[in-house]
Amino acid sequence: MGSLITAVASYCDIKQRGGNWHVRLDDIDPLRHDLNASTQIIESLNTHGLAGDGPVKQQSHRIARYKAARNLLSGTAYYCDCSRSKLKATPIYPGYCRSKGAHQADHALRLHVDDQSRTFHDGIKGSLDFNAQQRFGDFVIWRRDNLVTYHLATAVDDGEHYSHVLRGEDLYEQTLPQLYLIEQLNLKEPAYAHIPILTYPDGTKLSKQTHAPPLDNSMASRNLRTAFDFLGQKPPNTTLSSKDWLEWGVKHWQLAAIPTILKPFHPYHDSDT
Ligand SMILES: [Zn+2]
Repeated sequence: MGSLITAVASYCDIKQRGGNWHVRLDDIDPLRHDLNASTQIIESLNTHGLAGDGPVKQQSHRIARYKAARNLLSGTAYYCDCSRSKLKATPIYPGYCRSKGAHQADHALRLHVDDQSRTFHDGIKGSLDFNAQQRFGDFVIWRRDNLVTYHLATAVDDGEHYSHVLRGEDLYEQTLPQLYLIEQLNLKEPAYAHIPILTYPDGTKLSKQTHAPPLDNSMASRNLRTAFDFLGQKPPNTTLSSKDWLEWGVKHWQLAAIPTILKPFHPYHDSDT
């Protein structure tokens, strides 16, 4: 239900603006990316009438672009060979390796961030002033196993291809270094909005780890109504097809109506009230 809510929100928001909605697979890490799970999510979205405009985009097809971005940043990046235990000791990297320049193939590449103040504007959460050095510090843009990091791949994609990015609030902090990268790469900053996360009554997030019930694809139209309800869109108490629910959603969509905290998800019955 959590991923459906985010998908529905981003779909309705961009469709109401007359834009295109894209589905992207973040499949840059071959060890962590589960193709089966991704295929299931895409099939489930399709069952709910949520089909992307154009083919599904795969980050694994864009490695050359990410390498070009890495090279553009090389003037302010440095190689880091700190051990995991050394990194664990400080939540914000204190720049141990800043004086190291020479490339070592098995070292991570870290970006030296400045300590200026910036403002991030989020369409739901409002404005935040932050200082890169204090908020997240020098961060890794290329991994020691020679894979692009999530931050760099996401920043390049978002900055090159998307006008609006709507995603879960759990990714809010991650957006800040990505914003920094978009600026450093002279890309265009998309309009961001972070959707509150669906939680159980005790506040824990719904996820595979907390045994969130899988979405019942046979109840697609009802699931869509529930998603609109969580999103504060006040769906009418009626039965519509999935297609009609999405049309209703696009027509009535109000980003401002999304509550700051979603009402809790009850695992034992469907939130149909
Ligand atoms: Zn280091």
